[in-house]
Amino acid sequence: MKNLIKNFSIIFIVLLTFAAILSFTYSGDVEPEKVGVNRLIQNINEERVIEVEVRGDFLLATLKGEEEKVLEVKKEPGQSFAELMSDYGVESEKLQKVNLLVKEESGFTYWMTLILPAMLPILLIIGIIWFMSRQMQGMNNKAMGFGQSKAKQNKPDDKSKKTFKDVAGAKEAKEELNEVVDFLKNPKKFTEMGAKIPKGLLLMGSPGTGKTLLAKAVAGEADVPFFHISGSEFVEMFVGVGASRVRDLFDKAKKAAPSIIFIDEIDAVARKRGAGLGGSHDEREQTLNQILVEMDGFDPNLGVIVVAATNRPDVLDPALLRPGRFDRRVVIDMPDIEDREQILKVHAKGKPLTKGVSLRKVAERTPGFSGADLANLLNEAAIMAVRLGKKKIDEEEVLDSIEKVMLGPEKKSRVMSDQEREMTAYHEAGHAVVGHFLKNCDSVRKVSIIGRGMAGGYTLSMPEKEIRYSTIAKFKDDLAMILGGYMTEKIVYGDDQLSTGPSSDLKKATQMAKKMVMHYGMSDKLGPRMYADNEGLIFLAQDIHEKKNYSEKTAEMIDEEINELLNNALVTAKEVIKTNKNKMDDLVKVLLEKETVEQDVFSKIMSGSAEAMPDKVEAEK
Ligand code: ADP
Ligand code: ZN
Repeated sequence: MKNLIKNFSIIFIVLLTFAAILSFTYSGDVEPEKVGVNRLIQNINEERVIEVEVRGDFLLATLKGEEEKVLEVKKEPGQSFAELMSDYGVESEKLQKVNLLVKEESGFTYWMTLILPAMLPILLIIGIIWFMSRQMQGMNNKAMGFGQSKAKQNKPDDKSKKTFKDVAGAKEAKEELNEVVDFLKNPKKFTEMGAKIPKGLLLMGSPGTGKTLLAKAVAGEADVPFFHISGSEFVEMFVGVGASRVRDLFDKAKKAAPSIIFIDEIDAVARKRGAGLGGSHDEREQTLNQILVEMDGFDPNLGVIVVAATNRPDVLDPALLRPGRFDRRVVIDMPDIEDREQILKVHAKGKPLTKGVSLRKVAERTPGFSGADLANLLNEAAIMAVRLGKKKIDEEEVLDSIEKVMLGPEKKSRVMSDQEREMTAYHEAGHAVVGHFLKNCDSVRKVSIIGRGMAGGYTLSMPEKEIRYSTIAKFKDDLAMILGGYMTEKIVYGDDQLSTGPSSDLKKATQMAKKMVMHYGMSDKLGPRMYADNEGLIFLAQDIHEKKNYSEKTAEMIDEEINELLNNALVTAKEVIKTNKNKMDDLVKVLLEKETVEQDVFSKIMSGSAEAMPDKVEAEK
């Protein structure tokens, strides 16, 4: 906007000076004195005029002895000088003494001087319009330039070039993508066989699982240019820009063929059509249409392959998945423990770790971490080591970073009253004790009353082994553990002292119970049925009014079942807490002193061994 104003003023000033210069050149180098016809006639009669210059409708007279002075007279348009003189009865004898110069002023300057004053506002408006359109184009160009700037040819020595070596794990995905590399490298091999090279490939996986990385690696392996654009960028733009940008992108890619076009977050533009909410909907549709048109338009054997990434394949417009479009789909899973170790190895390169750091151990402790999380984890560890002035990264920094990535940075500075601290300690101890004594819960790794992110304290529990599927028994125990903090507060402080702290626990427990009943068929009464199918939960509004595919009566039953699950979990938690109240008190004592209790000390306290108690712990130190 600032630019716009600046440019306007520049135009304005240029036009003004132009006009000013014109009017100056017209008036000659001497400023003429404007006089009436009578004065000129008088001067001629007195024989004081040497020269009269006729310039269009103006007469410029030079006087004897006053050469630097010029008189300017305006005559009637169309009337000649001679006519004027005879009208005023000037004697021809006197006229002959005057040197008459007729300047053909009907040329450019003459007309300009006449027209310009009238034209100036119009010119100004035209200038403004012209400028506005240029400005818009500039914006377009900038928007396009974003996609273009990244669309560089990967040079063999390019440092940012990725290959499959940079992608750890994801074996199946890499195998599938190897085929694509083959298409790009030897398209002839396939066309000679009469095979059509696929045009589109859809990478599906959670955020941070390395979809972008894989697409780049494909380009790197095949050594072809990589054009990158993100679906969410389209949505921010003016109407029509998205489509033109798509066109431009495809044009470039086609020129550079064989090449790869990567569309990140395609779900941002390619949601099911007709379900629209929100203003940018039309823009989205246009952009999607343009993508489809472009994909249908080019020759499959050209060697342009469109790779799109999404973490929500369920919301994609079916038109996108039709044959000839994104008919190849590759699912990228969250990394399992082996993959995590490999990914950590890739990212540990170039980071000096001390010998004690076991990446295996880190992989064990990070279920549910994506590749991006793991990369971030090691980066955080490196930063922490620098801050501490260390030469190498110790295990301590790496393990600390796990929690930092998982829960946000520690908030040691948060001021808590003693009472709040104690309450937090009991709350966390409640989770930990219930989690420890219920056999289906994951083992407790750490209990802390240092706030992190939104949480006042936290209990970290993780499975010993990777698990893919949960069971009813595990869900029930987990529910009890989640409600353990709430129950403990009730038991220790009484019903009327319950704090607002456990609200996020309650939310989590409710959601879990709801899923068990409605999605997993874990209620005998309701049976193996999927209630409310959440496939259509595209937009916020639909999230609120979950698609209901059951009767009011069933809704009541669902409510009852959810309540029963939660109440049973509460009873379980209560039993565990009551029977282990002494151990809980011990844990709270240690927590208040140390703030954080690690797994080994925690197990000792839970086994009732006195050596884990504060004075002992202190002595060990
Ligand atoms: P997505 O596109 O799926 O959201 P990215 O490809 O942008 O994820 O991944 C982000 C970062 O995470 C990558 O730049 C890389 O550093 C790291 N990463 C993710 N997956 C892997 C992997 N399998 N191997 C190595 N690094 C990975
Ligand atoms: Zn809690």
